[in-house]
Amino acid sequence: MRKKIIAGNWKMNKTLSEAKELISSLLNKVNTNGQVEVMIAPSFVNLPMAVEMTKNSDILVSAQNMHFADSGAYTGEISADMLLDIGVETVILGHSERRAYYNETNDSLKKKAQKAFEKGMLNIFCVGEQLSERKSGQHFEVVEHQIKSALFDLPSQAYDKIVIAYEPVWAIGTGETASPEQAQEMHRFIRKVLTDKYGEKLANEVRILYGGSVKPGNAKEIFSQPDVDGGLIGGASLKADDFVAIIEAGKK
Ligand code: PEP
Repeated sequence: MRKKIIAGNWKMNKTLSEAKELISSLLNKVNTNGQVEVMIAPSFVNLPMAVEMTKNSDILVSAQNMHFADSGAYTGEISADMLLDIGVETVILGHSERRAYYNETNDSLKKKAQKAFEKGMLNIFCVGEQLSERKSGQHFEVVEHQIKSALFDLPSQAYDKIVIAYEPVWAIGTGETASPEQAQEMHRFIRKVLTDKYGEKLANEVRILYGGSVKPGNAKEIFSQPDVDGGLIGGASLKADDFVAIIEAGKK
């Protein structure tokens, strides 16, 4: 049985005081009851505070990105060891905004995924097609390529710490959501891609999140699809009440 994950990607939002306020509200309101895993991904500068505030809670803290090198002349970048050293053991890799605006390629993501595996970090690996790719019927091919090129050199044991997030780019921050059927269809396809390479047992254990305009009003229907194991939530994770409602929708 795959436990659902509800992960909030805060992107470049919340100053230190605003982030503290949101975490305080979440600490008061989130009750996972052991039924669901909850993560938040604040910006880098707010991570130490977030780790400290959440240390005796059910809320895990994730980074939104990291570099693939251990250290060196990479101005503005953050390494896996820097994250681990402050108690952050989860990282979101390959978010479509990073692919689109910061030239994240399947090749650099392969190196990042390798580094996350080497360092024992949980990797929330994002994939998803552009609107034009869906319209031209290439969405399966695109997602398959993203997974194969970045993850398929990893050994099967790496998948203990890989969560895949399917985020159709046309549904991120647009208010437009994939229908539950579209999400299910792609999630099932991703499981088949994993099955062909690593076998059915592994494919059935990997959690696959949906992301793209998930809100309290549509979360339950999306999460009830058999191959959807929770969500990566952007905008709605910035309001405690909305995020808590989505967490509730993730419970059995
Ligand atoms: C995201 O950024 O991963 C995301 C899914 O954003 P939103 O929920 O705002 O569409």
